[in-house]
Amino acid sequence: MDVPVIFERSRPGRRGVRFDPRNDVPPFDPASKIPPELLRTTPLGLPEVAENDVVRHYTALSHLNYGVDSGFYPLGSCTMKYNPKVNDWAASLPGFADVHPLQPEYTVQGLLELMYGLEEGLKELSGMDAVSLQPAAGAHGELTGILMIRAYLADRGEKRTTILVPDSAHGTNPASAAMAGYQVKVVPSNSRGGVDVDALRGLVNGQTAGLMLTNPNTLGLFEEDILEIADVVHQAGGLLYYDGANANAVMGRVRPGDMGFDVVHLNLHKTFSTPHGGGGPGSGPVGVKSPLIPYLPYPRLTRDDQGFRWNDSRGRSIGKVRSFYGNVGVLVRAYAYLRSQGAQGLKEVSETAVLNANYLLKRLTPDYHTPYARTVKHEFVLSLTEQKRRGGKALDVAKRIIDYGFYPPTVYFPLVVDEALMVEPTETESKETLDRFVDAMHAINQEIDRDAEMLHTAPHHTVVRRFDEAAAARRPVLTWAQLKGGSGVS
Ligand SMILES: *Cc1c(COP(=O)(O)O)cnc(C)c1O
Repeated sequence: MDVPVIFERSRPGRRGVRFDPRNDVPPFDPASKIPPELLRTTPLGLPEVAENDVVRHYTALSHLNYGVDSGFYPLGSCTMKYNPKVNDWAASLPGFADVHPLQPEYTVQGLLELMYGLEEGLKELSGMDAVSLQPAAGAHGELTGILMIRAYLADRGEKRTTILVPDSAHGTNPASAAMAGYQVKVVPSNSRGGVDVDALRGLVNGQTAGLMLTNPNTLGLFEEDILEIADVVHQAGGLLYYDGANANAVMGRVRPGDMGFDVVHLNLHKTFSTPHGGGGPGSGPVGVKSPLIPYLPYPRLTRDDQGFRWNDSRGRSIGKVRSFYGNVGVLVRAYAYLRSQGAQGLKEVSETAVLNANYLLKRLTPDYHTPYARTVKHEFVLSLTEQKRRGGKALDVAKRIIDYGFYPPTVYFPLVVDEALMVEPTETESKETLDRFVDAMHAINQEIDRDAEMLHTAPHHTVVRRFDEAAAARRPVLTWAQLKGGSGVS
């Protein structure tokens, strides 16, 4: 299990490929072309390994990893569902994968048509009047959206200073508002896990630029008072921002545009066939109601008799938020997903996501407590206060679940729940998988009383055991040289 790093496999002179020694291409002499001050004086320090070494090395590493292809991944708020492999195939088609963003528009009409169609699909799904595919992540979409709200208000001669954010919000919401130059005011939740509307009334005023809301929220609960909330904010002259990072509970059922939202973002790399996480490419399209269309990032994709083209006039746009076409592979997957599911399929996706979450919640609640006894949407949050009192914190339970072959749920988020464990089964898991998860959680609950110490040192069956999480974040060791040099944690 102790896999050496690739540098330790290196042997001087060992090669992965061999060229015919009779090769008649004269060797390249860098000194003849590159000014001496730009030539390196020390060797590059690359590992010298055979092809077998490389293939076996990375295959071995891949076995140490846990992914959605290895097993159940119930990570709340960051959907890691199975994403159809056929959409990977579509994204790798040469017409999408091998084109260059600087090619003339007339040579990439197929790709532009796909992007146009994706904008149309997301418009329909979100109930908005226009969509831009430019932002490259959810948080990026939030920043784009808030900058549009600011530009819109500024054009009306309004200098509002504050964005309201519920205490259950994802951390990117207040961060995005602050980056856009706003003060953030926190709206408390009520005992049912929704926005406290009376408290909201007390907080809105002439300084309120808008409210950022996630619905269903991060507790997995639908805002029952959404229409009233929208009224309160609109009457004060503010706008409503919808955080649609996880749309798999509402797709095809209910639309943010109909709930009163003015700006939305969606995460293609959660809901629409690209997994979130791992630092991979993402896409966070934004949608707006018509008064905000002029402020969308430019260039805008347009269609006329000649076909599809980019309209480069800036107008009142907030500007570009990303270069070129964005992460095209993610866009292709999302388009293929929308078209292959169809309206009925998307509706079934959200129904199944909600069914799975409620099934799991019902089966877990004999052992574990949930602070909100309500029907949930795509996810739910348990509070392990009682388990903690018996000796097993949320973190211990999450670490122990790894030994049972599952990825741990999200812990300690949202902040409004003590010892929070946030579970999202997603729509693509079978009843058998959910039942195995329940069995494991049940067994762990009993282990707390039998051997709490064993939980404190879990996981026991993994290559890497329990991290010193603070040191790992503050003094990360990211290179082999660092590790050999002994700096930081090992
Ligand atoms: C994931 C998520 C975000 C942020 O999306 P990124 O692509 O990670 O920036 C925002 N809000 C909620 C509710 C999320 O789950």
